[in-house]
Amino acid sequence: MSKPTAAATAARPAPATAPAPAPAAAAVAPAAPAATVEEITQKMKEVASGDGQLSDKQLKKLKKEQEKAARKAEVAARLAAEKAAREAADVDYSTDRYGKLPVNMSQQRTNEKREAIADINAARAGETIKLRARVQTCRLQGNKLCFFQLRQRFDTIQAVLTATKDTVSKHMIKFAGSITTESLVIIEATIAKAPEPVRSCTVQDAELQVHRVYVESAASDRLPFLLEDAARPEADFDLNPAFSRVALDTRLNNRVIDLRTITNQAIFRIQSGICQLFREFLYARGFTEIHTPKMIGAASEGGANVFEVTYFKTKAYLAQSPQFYKQMMIGADFERVFEIGPVFRAENSLTHRHMTEFTGLDLEMSINEHYSEVLDLFDELFVHLFSGIESRFAKELDIINRQYPFEPFQYLKKSLRLTYPEAVALMRGAGHEMADDEDLSTEKERILGKLVKDKYKTDFYMLEKFPLCVRPFYTMPDPHDKMYSNSYDFFMRGEEILSGAQRVHDAAMLEERAREHGVDPATIQPYLDAFKYGVAPHGGGGIGLERVVMLYLNLFNIRRTSLFPRDPKRLEP
Ligand code: ATP
Repeated sequence: MSKPTAAATAARPAPATAPAPAPAAAAVAPAAPAATVEEITQKMKEVASGDGQLSDKQLKKLKKEQEKAARKAEVAARLAAEKAAREAADVDYSTDRYGKLPVNMSQQRTNEKREAIADINAARAGETIKLRARVQTCRLQGNKLCFFQLRQRFDTIQAVLTATKDTVSKHMIKFAGSITTESLVIIEATIAKAPEPVRSCTVQDAELQVHRVYVESAASDRLPFLLEDAARPEADFDLNPAFSRVALDTRLNNRVIDLRTITNQAIFRIQSGICQLFREFLYARGFTEIHTPKMIGAASEGGANVFEVTYFKTKAYLAQSPQFYKQMMIGADFERVFEIGPVFRAENSLTHRHMTEFTGLDLEMSINEHYSEVLDLFDELFVHLFSGIESRFAKELDIINRQYPFEPFQYLKKSLRLTYPEAVALMRGAGHEMADDEDLSTEKERILGKLVKDKYKTDFYMLEKFPLCVRPFYTMPDPHDKMYSNSYDFFMRGEEILSGAQRVHDAAMLEERAREHGVDPATIQPYLDAFKYGVAPHGGGGIGLERVVMLYLNLFNIRRTSLFPRDPKRLEP
């Protein structure tokens, strides 16, 4: 096992009390008695060698004095020896085993192995390891024991530091007990089988017997809230009203700390996993990942809900979607493209599902004959996403469920497809008024979602053939009924998560549709021009990543599924 670096040792603070020099009883002068034994003996000799005889009385007195002085000297010697022993016991023999490390400026690289808590178990008892972890809790027990709960992401383990005669001093115990929670420490320890299962940790069958502990980065002793409170299961608040609930705003204001909770670690691993599943599925089907501009010269879709930014001496707009560019890539013969990127919407309303910046998972593909080819691909894609979350993230789902219990997400192996007229009929059948060409409000989406769940036992479905009038100008009309369009929205737990359609790829038709929608063709000329040179029929869609995560996990507020959410009232941190 490696020893602490010279730098580490040098930087260790001087012990609180300077180590006492090795004691020697003889070197310690006893408190001066009135007359020492030697003085009295000398006095007796002098008297005896004089001319006169000592009277009995004098002799007796001198003897008494001599005995008294001897007793005093004896007591003083005993006290001095005791003091020396005490000081010897207080010598800090652990100074190279603990302390605060100097700032890591990449002074050296030793390639020493750092252990992952997740890999520690009782079968490895006896092994000496080194690891970096956060101090989740730190508890002194008397002056000879210090218990830690150490955490790495969502793995936790118990660690114990015990005072010993020659390696772990009480000074070291005191230092360990003063480490602030959430500090990052480097620990050297031996793995031991836990005497009984450590229920409060993820590693339950093993614990660490610490021999070295160094603070690598100390946390302030004033945390905005306790991680324990931030990670508390919702059910606990019902059991004990004294528990303090950490408000969402407080969490978001202190997001770096909030994101350390095991629940947030799990949420964002799932978010990342969805991107990976999305990517791998599309790569395997011949798609190319693209990156389109986010600053554009014209407000693409009519100008509503668009952020304007200063662009040198003119204005630019933040892209509301990669729509035009991914279609232009079809014109450029990429055939199948996808993008994962930011989408900006100047929607000035505070809702549970809208942000001013979110992550879009977009795709666009050419079709051979019919837009249902796109629906077939999306169907397979979503089943891949849902089953992938289940199979790859069981541990994360379990962790999230403990804090925010949710009904497992139900989906069909072949996704349900309803047409808009079928949905309207379903709504009317359940007594809900709905016009044929009315768009779905959030409330009606929810009602429809519930009706679908009751009837088809699925939390995911596709709704196609929306009324043409509620869709953007580039949506391909239904060839059989002008009232409808070749478009679709998908829903999870009764809320929209995707919008898409077959797009108009004919230049003349596209320009006409733009005019009909009140979009001045001149403002979108580069887009329209892309269709002048022949473009394959195509379709696609855009998914809101944070919404998918929110609805899959039933977290009720999209801000919980965005690392640093942006809404009309929040631009920080
Ligand atoms: P909504 O009707 O919910 O406002 P939309 O019809 O404006 O959504 P689209 O423009 O079709 O949404 O965007 C495609 C997807 O992007 C949506 O289905 C949703 O998942 C996501 N999305 C749209 N707007 C937002 C937003 N403001 N915040 C987060 N996600 C959004």
